[in-house]
Amino acid sequence: MEKDLKSNTVAGLERLVVGLGQPKYLAGYIFSAIHAHGVNDISAITTLSKLLRAKLVEEGCYISKLDVVDKLTDPDDGTVKYVFGLPDGGRIESVLLFDDDRRTLCVSTQVGCDMGCVFCATGRLGLERNLTAGEIVDQVNVAGGDARISNVVFMGMGEPLANYDAVLDAIRILNNSKGRNIGIRHLTMSTCGLIEGIERLADESIQPRLAISLNAPTDAIRQKLMPITKRYPLNKLFAAVTRYQRKTRNRVTFEYCLIKGINDTVLHAQMLVKRLRGIMCNVNLIEYNPHPGCGLKSGGRQAIERFAGVLKDAGVETTIRLKMGQKINAACGQLGSKRTGKSE
Ligand code: SF4
Repeated sequence: MEKDLKSNTVAGLERLVVGLGQPKYLAGYIFSAIHAHGVNDISAITTLSKLLRAKLVEEGCYISKLDVVDKLTDPDDGTVKYVFGLPDGGRIESVLLFDDDRRTLCVSTQVGCDMGCVFCATGRLGLERNLTAGEIVDQVNVAGGDARISNVVFMGMGEPLANYDAVLDAIRILNNSKGRNIGIRHLTMSTCGLIEGIERLADESIQPRLAISLNAPTDAIRQKLMPITKRYPLNKLFAAVTRYQRKTRNRVTFEYCLIKGINDTVLHAQMLVKRLRGIMCNVNLIEYNPHPGCGLKSGGRQAIERFAGVLKDAGVETTIRLKMGQKINAACGQLGSKRTGKSE
C-alpha cells in the first residue's frame, strides 16, 4: 500500500479504505479532496469521519506536497518554469507553456535521467531516483493554481517509460473525473524509445498519446546523439511502434531536434521520409536549444523550414515547435542546465 494518499489511484484508495474496514465509496471522497480541492492534510478531509482521519494517520498515511523553490517567467513569451525541492534534497523542474487557448504543462518523471542524450542538459545529471505518482501529479496541482492546465506532456526531466508504474498511475489520477479530469488524449508520454515500455503501453486499458524522441534517420547518427540506440536500434524501435499501432490504432508523434550539420540536411529529411513510410504519425520538429557545456549548434530557422518542406512535400504531417522559455532555460533539452555546473 502506498502511504502517500496523493500517489494512489481511486482503485488504490479503495483497497486502502476497505482494508481499514470502511465502505469503498469513501475512497472517492479522499480522492476528490486531494485532486479536485487541493487538500494536503488528512485532518482537513472533512468529508471523512474524525475517527477514520485519525485511523489513516495512525496507519502512517500522509499527503505529500511539493515545495516550490523557484518560479521564473520568460519575459518574451510568458513561459513559466517551476523548480521544486524534494524532501531528500533533489530538484525537479516543470514548464508551463501558453499557446493560444492551450495551457500545456511539461512535467518531470525522474530526478535526473541516465539515458545520456547528448543534446539534453538533464542527461548530464545522471539519475538520482524515480518520482512517485504523487510527485508527478503535484507538479500539475501547483501549476494549476496559476492557469487551468489543458494538456500535460511527460517530457520534462527523466524517461517516463523507465518509471512506468508511477507515470501510468499519475495518468490515471490526472484523467479521473473526480479529480483534474484531463482528457486522455491531452496526456502525452514521450520516450527515447524503451521498447518494453511501448509494448506494455499497447496493452493498457488507458491510452495516453505516445511521442517518440527520434532525432535521426539512421542508427549511425542516432547513436551519436542517443546512447539508447545501441540497445534498441531503429529497426527494433520501428517494429515495436508498428506492433503498438496494430493493437491501439493510435497515431504516434515523432520528435526530431535539429542539430546543425548532424541531422538537419535535406538528405536526412529524405531518409526520414523513407523511415516513416507505413506509420500513422506526425513529426514535431524542434530547433536545438543550446545549453552550457554542450558544443552542439542550431542550424537556425532556415534549416528547420527546409527540413519541414521536404517532409510536407512527401505528405508527412509536420509541425515546427515554437521556441519558448529560452531566457529562463526552460526550452526543450535545457531542464537542469543550471545544475550541470559547466561554463556558467
Ligand atoms: Fe533523459 Fe529525455 Fe534528456 Fe534523453 S532527452 S537524457 S531521455 S530527459
